[in-house]
Amino acid sequence: MEFQNLINGVWKNSASGKFSENRNPANWNDDLIGMFPLSTEADVNEAVDAAKEAFKKWRLVPAPKRGDVLKVVGDIMVERKDEIAFEMTREMGKVIAETKGDTQEGIDTAFYAASEGRRLFGYNAPSELYNKMNLSFRIPIGVGGIITPWNFPMAIPTWKIFPALVCGNTVVFKPAELTPKTANTLVHIIDEAMRIVLGKDYIPGVINLVHGKGSVVGECLLANKNVDLISFTGSTLVGRRINEVGGRELKRVSLELGGKNAQIVMDDANMDLALDAVLWGAFGTTGQRCTATSRLILHKNIHDKFIEKLLERVKKLKLGYGNEKGVDVGPCVSESQRETVDEYVKIGLNEDKAKMITGGEKATEGNLAKGWFYKPTIFTDVTPDMRIAKEEIFGPVLSVLKCNDLDEGVKILNGTEYGLSSSIFTNNVNDAFRAVRDIEAGITYINGATIGAEAHMPFGGVKATGNGHREGGWTVYDFYSEWKAVYIDYSGKLQRAQIDNY
Ligand code: NAD
Repeated sequence: MEFQNLINGVWKNSASGKFSENRNPANWNDDLIGMFPLSTEADVNEAVDAAKEAFKKWRLVPAPKRGDVLKVVGDIMVERKDEIAFEMTREMGKVIAETKGDTQEGIDTAFYAASEGRRLFGYNAPSELYNKMNLSFRIPIGVGGIITPWNFPMAIPTWKIFPALVCGNTVVFKPAELTPKTANTLVHIIDEAMRIVLGKDYIPGVINLVHGKGSVVGECLLANKNVDLISFTGSTLVGRRINEVGGRELKRVSLELGGKNAQIVMDDANMDLALDAVLWGAFGTTGQRCTATSRLILHKNIHDKFIEKLLERVKKLKLGYGNEKGVDVGPCVSESQRETVDEYVKIGLNEDKAKMITGGEKATEGNLAKGWFYKPTIFTDVTPDMRIAKEEIFGPVLSVLKCNDLDEGVKILNGTEYGLSSSIFTNNVNDAFRAVRDIEAGITYINGATIGAEAHMPFGGVKATGNGHREGGWTVYDFYSEWKAVYIDYSGKLQRAQIDNY
């Protein structure tokens, strides 16, 4: 089946007439999901022009009504949740419980955005002059270019598109090449909700979808002078490029990038809880979450016992197609992602001291040979200087390090260029609070896994994980709006601040 772009309210083919295949990573040869447009500069420019024109009207629609659109989007997503999740598992591999969670995150974000349409609070402040009032409120910015990765094909686009729309911006959305179907479904739903809520006042071009390659569609969005802001989630490599171009062109840029997250387990922790957490954090989504637990830092007193139990549990994980019952771990998203994982395993094996205690190879038994499966892999005796301790792998590989005490554990945790998520398991309240204070990360869990963000809380990281913005919660609304300060002088005189008052 051939899919299309949405430009100016019309579903249409790319100007190139070319398509790329979308296939199931668990059943590559036999399950072709669809053909998606390989769009060109002409498609991007047409979509941006449409969004610019639509902005003139959309910015005037009252924010509560814009919120109503998101309410209907949420309602439709609730109705279609199971189907969306099934198709998402088919196109990117993670197990159905997780794709349902990914969809639920989108639903929660829709309802949060809907209610924000009635808030979008500003501030007022006293004036320093008599008979004068000072107000400030949010205004929309213009056209937003939204560029997203494949690992959360629903949640991440909704984190960006919903607040952008509620704030009164229009959108050109370029989804990841590996997950175009979920993006297509999302944009269909948004467009349907727009038509339901706005009726005869429907505005074409508020939401546009342009499929295609990052090097073409992404670059053209960056280059287009009428794109006022770019919100990007993806690799640090591409994020740096976006920041460079965006900086030069004075675009507003939000970046959510890589991570090398760690879980510390102290010797007073509830071991079973910590075990459940690391299994979920390291091997959920096949380790392909930006918040995945890629490092486990164990207190020396519990190290050996913990590893013994962990090994037992990891060996029981069932690999398979995520839409089948009882499957714990799906495939890597693509052949090249699996190759990257395999290369990192080789890098780990070349380290003198690191020991690989399980996994370390492609999984090819039975039906697994049809997809890009990789055995859950654990390295112990890893030291902080090793590449497998420092670099993002984005696959089912866990590096285990040892610490003597809390200070050393936190030092190891902080010893990477990234700072997204982090976790510590301890029953010592003093250690917990010291960790909260000293860990360099945007997110810290006490007695929880490194994964599992809530939609109404700020989400993002420090250091090379981003450029200081946050998704989620109230904080993201600052990115999608400008502040306007308004002074109302009802004195009947020309009063001059600073000059007349002091
Ligand atoms: P990626 O950087 O390869 O691609 C992300 C998006 O950018 C895709 O849509 C891609 O087509 C586009 N793109 C690629 N080159 C571009 C260019 N030159 N100009 C404009 N756009 C371009 O990342 P990915 O492989 O899709 O995703 C995995 C990465 O995303 C990991 O590093 C992961 O940590 C990160 N991630 C971060 C978060 C977070 O919130 N911090 C969340 C999820 C994923």
